[in-house]
Amino acid sequence: MSFVDFKEISKVASLDAVASWLNLELKTHGNGQMRCACPVHGGGDRALVLTPSKGLSACHASSFKRTGKKNWGDIIWLTAHVHQIEEHAAALELQKHFRPTSVKPRTVKKAARRKAAASKPWWKRLAISLRMI
Ligand SMILES: [Zn+2]
Repeated sequence: MSFVDFKEISKVASLDAVASWLNLELKTHGNGQMRCACPVHGGGDRALVLTPSKGLSACHASSFKRTGKKNWGDIIWLTAHVHQIEEHAAALELQKHFRPTSVKPRTVKKAARRKAAASKPWWKRLAISLRMI
């Protein structure tokens, strides 16, 4: 089994990017949620719930009782769930597709900081750009 850094891979792509890679036909709902039927379990067009702001998704059409697997998680879980593979294999697929190795960690961090800063009030953005906080 090759080594996979789950923590790193869970950050290689946004939930939105993974969802479109998985061809999920999502519809936007309230609370910043997106929903669609689960490609595996069906359950109506609200069964699979994605919350991009939290990077979490859940399948309401399946349960641990029925499948023996947890029915919520991050992008690794989502990939494993939709492709019906183990999370280890899903992590490898994500790594292969989104190529985290080609992205320098520093660039990712900077982009994340910029993204986080954009949602903050101007005085906080200024403080951040001046590295005061
Ligand atoms: Zn499902």
